[in-house]
Amino acid sequence: MEKSNIIGLLPNDLISFLEAKGEPSYRSKQIAQWLYQKKVTTWDEMKNLPLGLRQELSQGYDIGQIKVETERISTDQSKKYLLRLIDGNGIEIVVITHRKRLTICLSTQVGCPVGCSFCATGQSGFSRNLTYQEIVESAWKAQIESNRDIKNIVFMGMGEPLLNYEQLSKAIQVFNHPNGFNIGSRHMTVSTIGIPDKIIKLAQDWPQVNLAVSLHASKNELRKQLIPINDVYPISQLMKTIEQYIALTHRRVTIEYSLWTDINDQREYAFQLASLLR
Ligand code: SF4
Repeated sequence: MEKSNIIGLLPNDLISFLEAKGEPSYRSKQIAQWLYQKKVTTWDEMKNLPLGLRQELSQGYDIGQIKVETERISTDQSKKYLLRLIDGNGIEIVVITHRKRLTICLSTQVGCPVGCSFCATGQSGFSRNLTYQEIVESAWKAQIESNRDIKNIVFMGMGEPLLNYEQLSKAIQVFNHPNGFNIGSRHMTVSTIGIPDKIIKLAQDWPQVNLAVSLHASKNELRKQLIPINDVYPISQLMKTIEQYIALTHRRVTIEYSLWTDINDQREYAFQLASLLR
């Protein structure tokens, strides 16, 4: 029998399994704490669970199914992991360590359908959305590899997070839950090229999660060369959406503008940007 993956599940997800075994529901909370807060990787380590339950759980559930394929350390000591998913696809995550705390940059899709001209992921095409369990497990894996607690999460790796909104939102729930990773919403940031209806959904569902919008150009002609989806969601629509977002959340929005020589770094563009954002 193919086993399910327990990583990503919250206590409520386990209650029917436990009830069928005649176990009290508080066991689900104990299991979640072992997984997400005590960072154990085997059932045997969950010492406050009865032996029989540990054996049954080990027959039904794997503790994680993603493999670390490579780890690369950059000069600033941040680490980039290539993770191999159970279907053979690969995704990357980046781990930045500051003292004992981790900031993790997570992927939300295998590849990306947006196809930004400056982005290697976008140029390599799109395979599929990640499930919330895969998103959660990539963070869990980083926590295990580093043996540190996660302090901040940025959804800024492979993929456009708001094009996988449902799974993104479920992953945020696991990260935020007191029996999950227990990471405050304000320590999570969704970085997007700007999908208007999903920006509003994020404001409604997760008003305390930070929003960062990749602008990279302040005029449509240039922006659509860099970010083709600008044809569908032009800058004026994006700016109106950001105003709505601010009205709903009373939060600041980060605007991201990468500089490329002779493409978007001219002085006139700086003035256009200032005028737009004002
Ligand atoms: S949306 Fe992000 S991941 Fe997708 S192609 Fe553009 S920059 Fe790359």
